[in-house]
Amino acid sequence: MYFSAAVIHVKHTVAHGGDTICALATAPGRAALAVVRISGTRTRFALETLAGALPHPRQMSLRRLRDGQGNVLDTALVVLFPCPASATGEDLAELHLHGGTGVSAAVMAALTSLSGIRLAEPGEFTRRAVLAGKLDLTEAEAIADLVEAETESQRRQAVRQLGGELGRRIGDWRERLLGALALVEADLDFSDEGDVGDDLLGPALAEAISIRIQIESTLNDNRIGERLRDGFTVVIAGPPNAGKSTLLNHLAGRDVAIVSPFPGTTRDVLEVRCDLGGLPITLIDTAGVRDSHEPIEREGIRRAAARMSEADLVLWLAAAGEASADSPSGALKVRTKSDLVSASPSLGEISVSALTGAGVTDLLGEIEQQLRALVGAEPALITRDRHRRALEDCRAALLRVCEGRVKAAREYPELLAQDLRDAVQALGRITGHVGAEEVLDRIFSSFCIGK
Ligand code: GDP
Repeated sequence: MYFSAAVIHVKHTVAHGGDTICALATAPGRAALAVVRISGTRTRFALETLAGALPHPRQMSLRRLRDGQGNVLDTALVVLFPCPASATGEDLAELHLHGGTGVSAAVMAALTSLSGIRLAEPGEFTRRAVLAGKLDLTEAEAIADLVEAETESQRRQAVRQLGGELGRRIGDWRERLLGALALVEADLDFSDEGDVGDDLLGPALAEAISIRIQIESTLNDNRIGERLRDGFTVVIAGPPNAGKSTLLNHLAGRDVAIVSPFPGTTRDVLEVRCDLGGLPITLIDTAGVRDSHEPIEREGIRRAAARMSEADLVLWLAAAGEASADSPSGALKVRTKSDLVSASPSLGEISVSALTGAGVTDLLGEIEQQLRALVGAEPALITRDRHRRALEDCRAALLRVCEGRVKAAREYPELLAQDLRDAVQALGRITGHVGAEEVLDRIFSSFCIGK
């Protein structure tokens, strides 16, 4: 009895993080509405002070909001989500104000003047949700990704992750590995009492191998999740004056690269982010690839080569009627300035004119098709480098599980147990079961205030 109360108390203080926090949850500036959120133990007090009597839980009520001196600040819809059935697990309120900086500033000033209430840190609402067990880390990351999503495929990926798919898969592996670990630990306990060992270690090992294979195939995903999150890179390359900058400008619909009739103008790397049929892509214009002795231009060419080697797709440009230098393997060959000559392009080349726009739709269609082929039909589970590194650590520990048996037969169960523990730990880092605080700091620092 005493112990369970103590445990609940500890959980309570962790989840409720002390101060009550408030923040503007909507973008600042003029709009029809602005939403202010409040979370923590002083939420009810804040509502009573500003809005009078508390509204019925989870029901919108129309209230006149006043500051401490009784001045009317706004007429707003207010709603209270009592603890623990709220997004943060604490008492949580929302004030739906008339949009506009004056109104929200006055309401925020009135709230933060109350004792025990302060402005939230970036991502603090979501952080409290994680600490209260409402979300795991992968779901919290998905919220950040959803808000950041610029294209349809990014939005879909974030929604899938918010649905908890990655967290569930990791949780399942973790449970199974904990089961295997329990078998090994039982073997260690019983090892003096005859040869029960073989029966316990066999299934534990089988489980470890099966999970390693599943992790292997999850890792073997062409990094599609990360690519979708960060955007695909499409590099526009080719000899000087092939029309790279002009094509980039045409595709981007605005003047981003300096276009000049003199070879060697694009000395650095220029990037434009855009949405191609729902796929996020970054178009990169590179310095013309040619032999040059000029140091700045040579640096530009070096960078161009580096970007080409990392690119998801390279467009290799050559002006119509001119001999094309050897294109890098896998590059999409594009004949530019088709308006200048009447000859038809060779097989496997796409002919475009950035001047008239001819062929540009075909080019975009081909780029989209090639990127879609990379994406494949199967949605990716891993969306961040952080997930990948932890899964790689887990896989390495599970590989040791199998190798350990061969190398150190006598100490085998002890080593097996340690490697399984390492594997469980690595998985726990992904969902926040292990080392949550440090990961939380990093993740939430990129959130905006009010989330
Ligand atoms: P880059 O060095 O490959 O980036 O080439 P630029 O984009 O700077 O273009 C070199 C020259 O070719 C400029 O004078 C452009 O105006 C010209 N140019 C580029 N694209 C076309 C095109 O589609 N048609 C015609 N007629 N001229 C073009």
